[in-house]
Amino acid sequence: MEWWKDVKAIESIRDFALLQGILKKSSSKPDDISLTNVSVALTPFKFPTQLFQHARTIQTHINLLVDAVSQDYQFLSDTLKSVVANDDFTRRLMEIHKKVTSDNKQTCTFSIQRSDYMIDKKPGVGPTLKQIEMNTIAASCFALTQDKMENLFSFVRSRFQPSSENSSIPPNKCLDILTEGIAIAWKEYASDKSCVLFAIDEGETNIYDSRPIEFLLWTKYKIPVIYRSLLELSKQGRLGPQRELLVSGQEVAVVYFRTGYSPEQYPTDKEWDARLLCEMSRASNCPSVGYQLAGTKKVQQALTVPGILEKFCDDSDAVASIRTTFAGIYSLENNAEGDWAIERALKNPADFVVKPQREGGGNNFYDDDVRIFLEGIRHTSEREAYILMDRVHPPVQPGLVLWLGKNIVTPVDLTCELGILGVFLRKQSEVMMNVEGGYILRSKSATTNEVGLNAGFGALDLPTLVS
Ligand code: ADP
Ligand code: MG
Repeated sequence: MEWWKDVKAIESIRDFALLQGILKKSSSKPDDISLTNVSVALTPFKFPTQLFQHARTIQTHINLLVDAVSQDYQFLSDTLKSVVANDDFTRRLMEIHKKVTSDNKQTCTFSIQRSDYMIDKKPGVGPTLKQIEMNTIAASCFALTQDKMENLFSFVRSRFQPSSENSSIPPNKCLDILTEGIAIAWKEYASDKSCVLFAIDEGETNIYDSRPIEFLLWTKYKIPVIYRSLLELSKQGRLGPQRELLVSGQEVAVVYFRTGYSPEQYPTDKEWDARLLCEMSRASNCPSVGYQLAGTKKVQQALTVPGILEKFCDDSDAVASIRTTFAGIYSLENNAEGDWAIERALKNPADFVVKPQREGGGNNFYDDDVRIFLEGIRHTSEREAYILMDRVHPPVQPGLVLWLGKNIVTPVDLTCELGILGVFLRKQSEVMMNVEGGYILRSKSATTNEVGLNAGFGALDLPTLVS
């Protein structure tokens, strides 16, 4: 019998994962405190060294690029014009941005972001690295990954697969570096009495991806963290005379958003009021609304237009290096270019993905849904709120996955998505931190379209570098 079919072995691995802290709440009900493991792969994904290094080396340039884009009000406003006209969520973000941009009092511009990549393996060509998206808000999985996943893999290998080949998992201090970024942003605010606010969803189940950050901020830096939902913030938050953000009387130095990226997180005007309150305050918002807008898929598409990258980045080597990771991304605006893109996608829907301006997984269209969807909207202005992207065809590898909350390990053909952490801090024109801070890797079954962990599709994984 294969070792991974042994129930005792599975229980032992599941409990190892739980005791490492690779877990989430089973339910969003406040009085239900049951916990469950997050889905995890049990063997590392063979990842080409060169592509991994490429993703890492361009991250500091991407940090600067996103920063430059976020500061260009006119570019954001022009680029998102057609989206704003058709998408209420982006429109409201843009309204806040417009209101605050000329009178921004935030102590620092602070970003914790994650640039995601898949490997593209076209027949007859070597593998290339393709950027899937840039996450400028609520980028997750770092705290669930650092040390914990490596410990898990090391346990599984030494305990159950002693004869398997040695892996070469790159060092990864993403949790430490992300937390250090928050600590520096807090120090720049220069008030010992201030705290860091984590804005989260009511009934957040993925809370153990935040707690390690909170605990490290306290144990290493003695920085207190408070948690509030946007609704709570709207009731308990106010601005002080110097635009201090005061929440239940406590002064907030940094707001770290782990919510606020999706329309459902703003069911009423109260949540929008809370977002505006934070944005107007002296606290450093991670991210500011400008950063969130710079991370939209429409902006990602605009950056692929010839000449645009150069406008924001004057390092020509960096421009070339970033550009090689761009897949074809096409506007669906109501013009000849948009019509051309739609025609192509209707002919070969399997070669494309349609994406709305949404985050968090489960929103895109694939395969025949591309055709059905585009046929439905091609004669409406709604199409302008979407972009079309070349579909990436990642290589497939056999793997083993222990699925969320299940006492079963299954052999699965997997594909993976690499996420590189970028941490960036700027005070006026002085860049105080600009680092590539480590990585996460998520894998999914080759037969599913998306890898979103919270959406239940993917598994945490690690790369083993191969030549
Ligand atoms: P979200 O903001 O919802 O995470 P993404 O752009 O990351 O949006 O898309 C979600 C998932 O869809 C990705 O994690 C990836 O698995 C899949 N995906 C996105 N773009 C492509 C693409 N061009 N080719 C193949 N799969 C893709
Ligand atoms: Mg994504």
